[in-house]
Amino acid sequence: MSYAKRTDGNHKEVVEEFRKVMPEASLFDASGAGKGFPDLVIGWQGKNYLFEVKDPAKYPSARSLTDAQKEFHLAWHGQVHVIHSAAEIAATLARLAMK
Ligand SMILES: [Mg+2]
Repeated sequence: MSYAKRTDGNHKEVVEEFRKVMPEASLFDASGAGKGFPDLVIGWQGKNYLFEVKDPAKYPSARSLTDAQKEFHLAWHGQVHVIHSAAEIAATLARLAMK
């Protein structure tokens, strides 16, 4: 399965790893949605979460949000987190669930 060139270098790895470590969660790959919408929609314990994947292997300047992503993050009245790994998604979910 190939991914559009617009996805980050670690996108496929993050998706596959997350599905492995948290099979009790749902993951929808929304990386083709466009308009700054986050890469991943995750359902866990009855709630939905949005995550934007960025590649830690890139220089910080190449890792920053696109203009469309910045706009989306600012305008969205809900949760959205930038993550770099499957472990970071799991940690964020655990943290959010404690609130
Ligand atoms: Mg991304």
